[in-house]
Amino acid sequence: MAESGNKVIAVTNLAKSYGDIKAVDGISFEVSQGEVFGMLGPNGAGKTTTVEIVEGLRPADGGTATVLGLDVSKDTRAVKERIGVQPQSPALFPSLTVRETIGFFASLYRKPLPASRVVEMAALQASHKVQFKNLSGGQQQRLSVALAFVNDPDIIFLDEPTTGLDPQARRTMWDVIETFRHTGKTVVLTTHYMEEAQRLCDRIAIMDYGKIIAMDTPQRLIEAHTRESAIQFKMKDYPGDEVITGLTGVCKMHRDGDEIIVYTNNIPSTIAALLGMASQRSAEISELSVRQPTLEDVFLKLTGKRIRD
Ligand code: ATP
Repeated sequence: MAESGNKVIAVTNLAKSYGDIKAVDGISFEVSQGEVFGMLGPNGAGKTTTVEIVEGLRPADGGTATVLGLDVSKDTRAVKERIGVQPQSPALFPSLTVRETIGFFASLYRKPLPASRVVEMAALQASHKVQFKNLSGGQQQRLSVALAFVNDPDIIFLDEPTTGLDPQARRTMWDVIETFRHTGKTVVLTTHYMEEAQRLCDRIAIMDYGKIIAMDTPQRLIEAHTRESAIQFKMKDYPGDEVITGLTGVCKMHRDGDEIIVYTNNIPSTIAALLGMASQRSAEISELSVRQPTLEDVFLKLTGKRIRD
């Protein structure tokens, strides 16, 4: 199981600034072999900077990072041979087919995986003769993720692998990543999609302003930080926060534009009080839903903001 396995990544007090911006502000974490480790945070939280330091692509200002026991600042070349990094789609050649693209990347390594295996991992068997420029956005993204596997690495780094994909393409990508994880490899994934982190990751580090503000399994993060259920709704003629927090059972609330989330230990009483109040004021409530707490609620509680702010 992930947590008891060999540590394949160890990061201690890592720091990196750009001028006055502390992009990475003294973070420490370890990743075990076979684990899917997620770094979750809003734009600018410092995820990419962290991951690129660990990959040996950027120097740190302070702290240490080791990958498979190798110091990434000194043994950069050896680290690069043992890790797989997803190239960004714009770096790929528009006129090469799927198979040719894989062949090109494979030629850069001594012991690449067979191209057919990589095509299969990308779930692109039916499109292996199609030029990159003619693939759909989701197919292009799957190919770029699969290229991280070409050198049969021990650790794969995926930086926001599903950003910009529609829900269907995102789910297909999740299947692809889950197929990868069954090969026993370690995966480090950055994302700002809560659902993605919750579904794919064994453990998650939640980042904000260059710091790790919480780190655990998705389930334990939710249990530790949010015990209440969430009632979410929209309301016309909003009566004010004090009216909402005064409703029976409400422990706390959050408002984002016209969307309101209240947290409660007593769903029936809170809903009854909410609907009673709305009818008294002739205020229209729409899109009402009751749900169990998610990582989004954990993030909201820890930072006071939605992750997509
Ligand atoms: P995103 O989800 O948008 O990719 P992120 O969590 O990966 O965000 P980073 O890209 O690591 O965040 O950026 C962290 C902070 O460091 C941001 O404020 C960013 O503007 C700044 N930053 C990152 N790289 C550079 C750079 N090369 N030069 C100047 N500032 C940078």
